[in-house]
Amino acid sequence: MIYNDSMSDRVFRIGPIRPPSEANSLLIQVTNGCTWNKCGFCQLYRHTKFKAYSADSIRADIDNIAYWAERVRKYECKGSPASDAYPGWDIDGINEELSSLTDDGERQCMYTVANWLIAGGENVFLQDGNSTALSSGRLTDVLIYLRQVFPQVKRITSYGRAENLSRSSAEDFAELKAAGLDRIHSGFESGSDAVLKRINKGVTQEQQIRAGQAVKAGGIELSIYFMPGVGGKDLSEDNAVGTAEVINAVDPDFVRVRTAAIKPGTELYKDWQDGLYALCGDDDKVREIRKVIELADEGLSTYLVSDHMINLLQDIEGRLSAGSDDRSGAGSDRERMLARIDEYLDMPEDRRRVFQLLRRTLRAYSLDDMRNISSVQLEQLCEEVMKENETGWDVRVNGYICRYV
Ligand code: SF4
Repeated sequence: MIYNDSMSDRVFRIGPIRPPSEANSLLIQVTNGCTWNKCGFCQLYRHTKFKAYSADSIRADIDNIAYWAERVRKYECKGSPASDAYPGWDIDGINEELSSLTDDGERQCMYTVANWLIAGGENVFLQDGNSTALSSGRLTDVLIYLRQVFPQVKRITSYGRAENLSRSSAEDFAELKAAGLDRIHSGFESGSDAVLKRINKGVTQEQQIRAGQAVKAGGIELSIYFMPGVGGKDLSEDNAVGTAEVINAVDPDFVRVRTAAIKPGTELYKDWQDGLYALCGDDDKVREIRKVIELADEGLSTYLVSDHMINLLQDIEGRLSAGSDDRSGAGSDRERMLARIDEYLDMPEDRRRVFQLLRRTLRAYSLDDMRNISSVQLEQLCEEVMKENETGWDVRVNGYICRYV
């Protein structure tokens, strides 16, 4: 929502982006935009000048959220399931009150708070691209106030840029943890210095490791993002090896896979058009994920997450450690993930391309869906997808992927 001075006093800011894992979280905008704004694959905040809001302004937003929460809670029906779909809530009553609001901003704010409370009202995500750029004192004040106003909140999370995080100590993070920050999401994308340089990430592997270790030592959960394919064909192996080195040094709580999409308008897209960069295909990206899993130290506690439809094999998810708590005898997550990846890589090229096509056009979720295709249809699809050479095919798939980001 675009926030302006003519809006009702009861309106609070809502930024554009949150991680998929924060879908049910309340979004509180403590900064606007990104402090760096130069990554070669990202256009998210290119037209937004970075701004860190004052503690007073953020507190005013929290007060407004509390105001809407009070109005929504009138429709809580303790002990009586008023709605089959949303037990415990009088959804018709909420909808009626929403329709009675004449101010669009107010309606959106009440709707946002209602969705949050109906989903449990437990998690909060602080926006935007680098909330930890807020001076630590200001962030601490905001966290303490947020916890006072909403004591039922169980988890507060935020984005933090690795370079920025690398300037804080474990003690700084321990202070944020004590004030109520539970998890930091950070787009590491790659751990390879060559790739980081190519994508202009503005951070080095050494800084990532320092940042990650300090966050964890301060008691805050760390969720990092890995972007298979972002380094291009020549740095594909490097991307995986460097990322595994960072994971092994930091042992982050989560590694979230975000397949690279090279979008028109970005620097990397221009580099590709100028012949300075060869796009990775889906197979290269899958091989990178395999390499990261293979190189991960056996004692890690990291959980690999694939929570975005942009990833080809979305069921590749599990612990990177070699051990297993699975009593069914099915082996470790790591063995299962590697076996699934090999199932894909061992298919003939035409079948792999057919799966990519089906997945990228939302006709398949997992490899299992390949079994639902008749042999006649499969033959036709194989013929179609093999009409293009490898480069042409990779470019076509990149086009599909770009639709989702
Ligand atoms: S740090 Fe994040 S938000 Fe900022 S430019 Fe890079 S990818 Fe985009």
